[in-house]
Amino acid sequence: MSASIIDGKAYAAGLRARITDAVGDMAQQGATPGLAVVIVGEDPASQIYVKNKARQTVEVGMRSFEHVLPASTSEAELLSLVAGLNADPAVDGILVQLPLPRQIDAQKVIEAIDPAKDVDGFHPINAGKLMTGVPGLVSCTPLGCLLLIQSVQRDLAGLNAVVLGRSNIVGKPMAQLLIGQSCTVTVAHSKTRDLPEVCREADILVAAVGRPEMVRGDWIKRGAIVVDVGINRVPNPSSGEGKTRVVGDVAYAEASAVASAITPVPGGVGPMTIACLLRNTLEAACLRRSLPMPS
Ligand code: NDP
Repeated sequence: MSASIIDGKAYAAGLRARITDAVGDMAQQGATPGLAVVIVGEDPASQIYVKNKARQTVEVGMRSFEHVLPASTSEAELLSLVAGLNADPAVDGILVQLPLPRQIDAQKVIEAIDPAKDVDGFHPINAGKLMTGVPGLVSCTPLGCLLLIQSVQRDLAGLNAVVLGRSNIVGKPMAQLLIGQSCTVTVAHSKTRDLPEVCREADILVAAVGRPEMVRGDWIKRGAIVVDVGINRVPNPSSGEGKTRVVGDVAYAEASAVASAITPVPGGVGPMTIACLLRNTLEAACLRRSLPMPS
């Protein structure tokens, strides 16, 4: 048996097409949604990511406001920019790209963002809403993972789910989303005993640890749905000296021989993250204008 590949790139393209239609309708009423992205410093990976976000924002018809600040920006300066964006009626969503330089307390910045514009879903109010089952803005990567899982199996009630990783941006919200779908959820992390055995119980396995190909084929229950969040750059000497390639947290070839469905890296969860950011911006815009969220 070979697992079916969950094509995140195609799913994300479909999601963006639906968002484009909805944004077109809003634009006709003079209510074009706007997303502000703030980046501090010159981290090359973050810069590429932010450029991609801005491009895709414009492609779906939204307004994109980019704020590129020097690495020397003070916390007070960033907080003042966030306050301005909170007050700006043209801005429906605010995203401050992490990581931030050392002199800035990221948590303070996250908490300064108006929860109604917190399209990353990192504000404690939105995290609390997710935990208590109240509608709110949900962290983009876990939301994308859930949509991909449900593209394979709509009803997840009663399934055993194992989430590898307990970060605030992926692992914890992922676990909450799966609890919301009535899964029986185990959250594993670096102190978990006998990780392979824990994983073998999983009907749904979400790996978000940042360790290249850590999850082996014999950790996976036959027929499981495997979602690989990891993005790890590893040396790739076969394509030349100093060359690298990107791998996930799951040993893909081994896992595909056992799982029923699996997300590839790249082309799985990655494309869903930005698509869900745009979806969240649309949702924030609808909520602020008291419009129903298009399905
Ligand atoms: P963090 O480093 O914040 O969290 C990693 C988690 O994995 C921690 O809970 C840690 O445990 C756990 N962990 C680390 N090593 C092990 C181990 N050997 N065994 C078991 N658990 C372990 O990472 P993120 O959650 O931010 O990201 C995880 C991965 O997902 C990264 O590769 C990142 O690049 C990728 N990512 C991809 C995105 C996408 O769009 N596709 C978006 C966001 C992240 P402990 O808490 O005990 O330290």
